[in-house]
Amino acid sequence: MQVAYTLYDSKLNGEADIFFDHYSPVKIISSVVDGGELRPVEERVCRFCGKRTPAATFKNEAHIIPHQLGNESLVSDFECDSCNKIFGKYEAQLANFLGINRTLNKVKGKKGYPTFDAPGNEVKASVKDILGLEDVVEIEVGKNLSVNMETGEHKLSFRQPGYRPISVFKALAHIGFCMMNNDDLLGYRRCIEELMLSHKKDVKCVGHPIFNVAFAALPRKHDTFAILYRRIQPGLFPLHALHVFTGDTMIQLAMPFQKNDTENYSSEFGALYLPPGHFDGDHAEDVNIPWRVRDMSGADTMQEASGLGFTINPERLKNLVVIDPATGELKDIPFDPTQIAKIVISKEDQRINYPNEPGKTEDGAEDVS
Ligand SMILES: [Zn+2]
Repeated sequence: MQVAYTLYDSKLNGEADIFFDHYSPVKIISSVVDGGELRPVEERVCRFCGKRTPAATFKNEAHIIPHQLGNESLVSDFECDSCNKIFGKYEAQLANFLGINRTLNKVKGKKGYPTFDAPGNEVKASVKDILGLEDVVEIEVGKNLSVNMETGEHKLSFRQPGYRPISVFKALAHIGFCMMNNDDLLGYRRCIEELMLSHKKDVKCVGHPIFNVAFAALPRKHDTFAILYRRIQPGLFPLHALHVFTGDTMIQLAMPFQKNDTENYSSEFGALYLPPGHFDGDHAEDVNIPWRVRDMSGADTMQEASGLGFTINPERLKNLVVIDPATGELKDIPFDPTQIAKIVISKEDQRINYPNEPGKTEDGAEDVS
């Protein structure tokens, strides 16, 4: 299988060559491509617990890519209801981990666009239509926004919903296990039984480097897709690597505890990361995008501070005016950043449509008479 992968930073071509010298893609799945026919229930076998009907039931839709990552259609016929329930819990942790990013990236899942509610304070984010603007992201900021009028810096602070790092890792690894062929899956039997379907080994795994996951924030947004790679020559790298692209995030991990890999686990053994890039063909940007490797082995729930930051040209801040949202008329009061209640993020080409704008008829059409 060939993929046309273009790096954002062309200086890192050498590093990409090292990755592709060792790994070849074996499967690509996308949230926007249908997975095809499903096997009839009586022929199904769960690839995780190994049970078949009637010992296992297959009533629920089992998503190969979690619906929280924007997958509505890609479902499997090889995951029983009880395994699906276990993975569903990990996927909820993954959604907590991604936090406000899913809303900002408008990652549409089973329940439409996700809303975000920061625990314990007033920051909320949702996707809606406001004043004629379609599908805009609205963030209620409460008292958590600070604006520096001199520098133009805006900082919104809030708490991230709690998440268990190892559960987040398992939600990601689950995607890889769904993509793997049956022969390769055999090498992960123990990992699936003892780690994926159970919490018993979680504490023993804390600090293990196989749980290091690389994250990068990309300049382009993607529909969610995943690529599973298999090692093509021996080396101190895991047999399978998995890349997940969702919204503006690229996630890289190694599939953990493959039978033969574990014999080689040592200080030199570890994941090989591919520098951030895209599959869109053209090469528009040449920028360095740092990736951050995070240890996702933790078994305790993390409660982290989170935030959003952006900068607006301070010259433009000086000229801001206050407008009545009902009529669009200018109000004769100075702009006060401490009074900001909401931030709305819209595409550049959309025009605000005030409901009671003078010169408008009741149905909202322009009055040209
Ligand atoms: Zn099962």
